[in-house]
Amino acid sequence: MIDQVVYTFSAKNAPTETVSSGATVVLRTMDCFSNQIKSSDQLVTSIDFDHINPATGPVYVESAMPGDVLKVEILDVTVDSAGTTTTLPDNGPLFENVETRTKIIRIKDNIASFNDVTFPIDPMIGVIGVAPCDKEVPCGYPGNHGGNMDNHLIKKGATLYFPVQVEGALFQCGDIHAVMGDCELCGTGLEIAGIITVKLTVIKEFKLGWPLLETADKWFSIASAPDYNTALKNVSLEMQDLICRTYGWDKTDAYLYMSIQGDVEICQACQPCLVDMILRLGIPKQDGRPLIQS
Ligand code: CA
Ligand code: ZN
Repeated sequence: MIDQVVYTFSAKNAPTETVSSGATVVLRTMDCFSNQIKSSDQLVTSIDFDHINPATGPVYVESAMPGDVLKVEILDVTVDSAGTTTTLPDNGPLFENVETRTKIIRIKDNIASFNDVTFPIDPMIGVIGVAPCDKEVPCGYPGNHGGNMDNHLIKKGATLYFPVQVEGALFQCGDIHAVMGDCELCGTGLEIAGIITVKLTVIKEFKLGWPLLETADKWFSIASAPDYNTALKNVSLEMQDLICRTYGWDKTDAYLYMSIQGDVEICQACQPCLVDMILRLGIPKQDGRPLIQS
């Protein structure tokens, strides 16, 4: 099992393992605080912020070259028996009227307990992606390499497709949330350590501008930006381009179709926040019309 962590997405990170295309890898991940918070009297303001948002890896995938796509099938996500949630100073719409507070939340038989209510967990991966080619991005930030997308549909059974930007792709992931709502309002989910099992496959020579997500019934483009208008443009342009190329339609028809069949949803947008907001745009799967051939 791979358990080495890094704190950036970067071509400079030394691979912890080299695998061939089609390999299944198992990664042990820490929570987004590098497991520093152990009890509810430990505030987030007391931890070492040089060591937050660790990702496990990177994994070098043989034959992956810039211009290819890395297909990542999420085979399993399991979590530990307790997680942490905390408010963050200056983060989210209500930071001015709340305290900085840590809650340790116990999980038993896939049910989490919060005060006097309980709810099922639905584990998802917050940070997942490949190395960008021209910069080093801290794991807490999103981008066209993936990174901190905080998209609650990135979970067991889903498949991600990333534009490979460096030789070997350098795949890594971390920041599991046992459960999280769209937007991640206060800036944290139910942050938890766990184990991620993925299958990594190279798809040769397919152009992607941003990560693509495949679920049981939809295709989603995922994109980010500091503001809503730019994020919306990025996520829409990517889906328009994919529809034009794979459906053979022109840009106007793609735009019309996206308006009547596409849903734009918020992944993470807990403004004010230092991190860019992330949106996803989903269209229904159509038989015989995959947005990417694998
Ligand atoms: Ca996150
Ligand atoms: Zn997180």
